[in-house]
Amino acid sequence: MPISDHVTVVREAVAEARERIAAARARGGHGQEVTLIAVTKTHGPEAVEAAYAAGVEDVGENRVQEAERKMAQVTVPVRWHLIGHLQTNKAAQVHRFHLLHSLDRDRLANALQEEMRRRETVLDVLVQVNVSGEASKGGYEPAALPALADRLHELRNLRVRGVMTMAPFDAEEATLRHVFAGAREARAELQRRGHEAPVLSMGMSGDFEIAVEEGATHVRLGTMLFGHRG
Ligand SMILES: *Cc1c(COP(=O)(O)O)cnc(C)c1O
Repeated sequence: MPISDHVTVVREAVAEARERIAAARARGGHGQEVTLIAVTKTHGPEAVEAAYAAGVEDVGENRVQEAERKMAQVTVPVRWHLIGHLQTNKAAQVHRFHLLHSLDRDRLANALQEEMRRRETVLDVLVQVNVSGEASKGGYEPAALPALADRLHELRNLRVRGVMTMAPFDAEEATLRHVFAGAREARAELQRRGHEAPVLSMGMSGDFEIAVEEGATHVRLGTMLFGHRG
């Protein structure tokens, strides 16, 4: 597709997503602001440029190396979100991201803390919560949150901004609502234990309206904006 057509297609998809987000937000009644993150994984730098041209300032990638390649290729000033599983040996690269959505285990937390302390900087992170208990999904189980929340206060170079979750693919509405409400409750637990934690990152192309109804502040949309990944 010529670049100009690609930009038009993405702009229309972004407009539709924004309309559906606004309607879902009104239905849900949580009153939150919702940030749209364009998930550009597997797509080239032109996807990032097209999203930015459509007014999207946040992009999500799930692999550090792929993201770094695109960071070097694009000129638009987007915020980069790391949304995928992160290997501990990649901790040194994460400072380039605006927000890590996938803090999913203690070993990673410790490695990130050490790296950020060395750099004398602070990293914003979301705790990934596995509400559904699916073995294929990473993240802390909700029961682990109280102890984790207390321990994270000791990791002074990590700033806990909230919770991220992924719902089971193609689940029924009742299951989706259960998962999203569970993530909302996990964020409340972080807040009760002294973390500011304003962020609730949940909702993908197939389930973002229900996520927004349940209080999502950040939705991560790939397929809806850029079509199916090859
Ligand atoms: C790929 C991905 C998305 C986007 O999924 P779509 O269904 O294409 O919208 C969102 N979140 C994470 C963590 C992903 O890996």
